[in-house]
Amino acid sequence: MPTIIDFRVGDIVRLRKPHPCGGYEWTIHRLGSDIGLQCRTCGHYVMLPRTTLERRLKKFVERGPEPEEQTELSETGGTTHTPMANC
Ligand SMILES: [Zn+2]
Repeated sequence: MPTIIDFRVGDIVRLRKPHPCGGYEWTIHRLGSDIGLQCRTCGHYVMLPRTTLERRLKKFVERGPEPEEQTELSETGGTTHTPMANC
């Protein structure tokens, strides 16, 4: 069974091979079927397929924040609820 790695935006990862600039650490900027990574040493930005990144990943240096649930916005909330019909 393939292990699905739970990447998060803001994660800092260490890869097995260094970037030509000498940097090993990358910050995750974008998630999807391709994952956007920025080299922490030279700032170079690359897109890698998730499977490629999973193979190259050595370890997480730092985890990004937990993704927040964004499905409960319509329920209670601090947003001003202006009643239109005010009898
Ligand atoms: Zn680099």
